[in-house]
Amino acid sequence: MSDGMKWWKLWASALTDPKLLALTPAERWAWAALGAYTVVHGSKGVLTVRTHDGEKPTDAGLQLALSLGTPIDDLWRVVARLPNVMLFGSVTTPKSETLRYGLGDAPNDNGVLRVTWSNWNRYQRDSTGYERLKKWRKRRNDNGTRGEETKRRKEELLTTPLKPPKRGASCSECATVIAELNRLTGRKYQGLGQGGSMLHVRHQEAGVSACLEVVRKMTARWLEHPKMTAFLRPETLFRPGKFDSYLNEPDGGGGRLPGLDD
Ligand SMILES: [Zn+2]
Repeated sequence: MSDGMKWWKLWASALTDPKLLALTPAERWAWAALGAYTVVHGSKGVLTVRTHDGEKPTDAGLQLALSLGTPIDDLWRVVARLPNVMLFGSVTTPKSETLRYGLGDAPNDNGVLRVTWSNWNRYQRDSTGYERLKKWRKRRNDNGTRGEETKRRKEELLTTPLKPPKRGASCSECATVIAELNRLTGRKYQGLGQGGSMLHVRHQEAGVSACLEVVRKMTARWLEHPKMTAFLRPETLFRPGKFDSYLNEPDGGGGRLPGLDD
């Protein structure tokens, strides 16, 4: 179809619509054709056509009559009988008789036929198509937004220097671990420097309770040991190669002294 997807929709209940069944087959065609004609030449269910100049039919009037399959002289009377449309206007017949339709609202311009379809939007607007289009547009916009967001994040990542891991001293959970180490050993570590950094990495990997457990376990084991007590410090306890074995040391065990050979 090369009509720019313009549709005149004939609703299924037309088959049993008493107003349509009351028409002759020729009038039913005139009615359907008027609808299609309104789609092509009208706007939002309103069709305005100058059918006559005085008593003389215009080309537009002849074209409309031809489309509806009615003689030009019967055009207005036929249209006036069609359901679901209101006819407004006046026309002068060849017998110099003036027909008036839609009194009150009728335009004063003799020979101008105006048809208004009732419930045009309800029946003729492709509401499902419209809804689909709306959804599609929304999806497209959402995707666009997401795409933009991803792009923005990417740019942010590319332009922002990588943050160094937070130092132990500025991490409140690491501070808890350091405080516990100080409480148990009576020392005054601040969680700064390499030891603090290693603690924070262990904290992020294993959690704060694992860090606390290593502190308690190793303090219990090393505090009274003349040589090992010096190693109760963050740089030793949270060394990446040893933290896990400290964590898995049996409580209160003795003997081997792990952690000092790497
Ligand atoms: Zn931390």
